[in-house]
Amino acid sequence: MSVHLTQEIIQNIFTETHALLNGHFVLTSGLHSPNYFQCAKVLQYPNYLTLFSTALANTFRLKEIEVVLSPAVGGVVVGTEVGRLLGTRTIFAERENGIMKLRRGFELKKGERVLVVEDVITTGGSVNEVISIVQSSGSQLCGVGYIVDRSNGKVQFDAKSFSLLTMEVITYKSDSCPLCKENIPITKPGSRAIQV
Ligand SMILES: [Zn+2]
Repeated sequence: MSVHLTQEIIQNIFTETHALLNGHFVLTSGLHSPNYFQCAKVLQYPNYLTLFSTALANTFRLKEIEVVLSPAVGGVVVGTEVGRLLGTRTIFAERENGIMKLRRGFELKKGERVLVVEDVITTGGSVNEVISIVQSSGSQLCGVGYIVDRSNGKVQFDAKSFSLLTMEVITYKSDSCPLCKENIPITKPGSRAIQV
């Protein structure tokens, strides 16, 4: 199956599954935004999980990947599916006392060819921490794949990188928010009002 996933098709899937909400929201930072995004909501549907993971897996198929590594929690679902499609081992890193590390007996072998997979990149922080694990283990970083780039292309990694959708995060300070000026009702994500 080969579907050309345009930005428009992907954006429609996010909207249809309520992963991307439009309106007027208060983010955890306190900033206001016309959008709220929760990638997990789209990945709960196996057809979309497989559709997006196939596009990521195909991008790195010729890289002879031996292991897929994801940062927990967001990257685990998509990482596991990409690994299944590539027929490789899949492992994840998680934080212990704030530090990203491999636990549960997971390990990377010297020289092993690693693909890092994540759901959403905003600052690239978690992915960079996972890349440090790859580097310190002596394995080889062969690519970084993610579904959504919320940095609008600003974040770059030291390997072939690929995202399915590039998105700009629009935020306003509460005292200069045009949506507030228009008296558009505001919602705090996580509250009952947007549990659709
Ligand atoms: Zn506002």
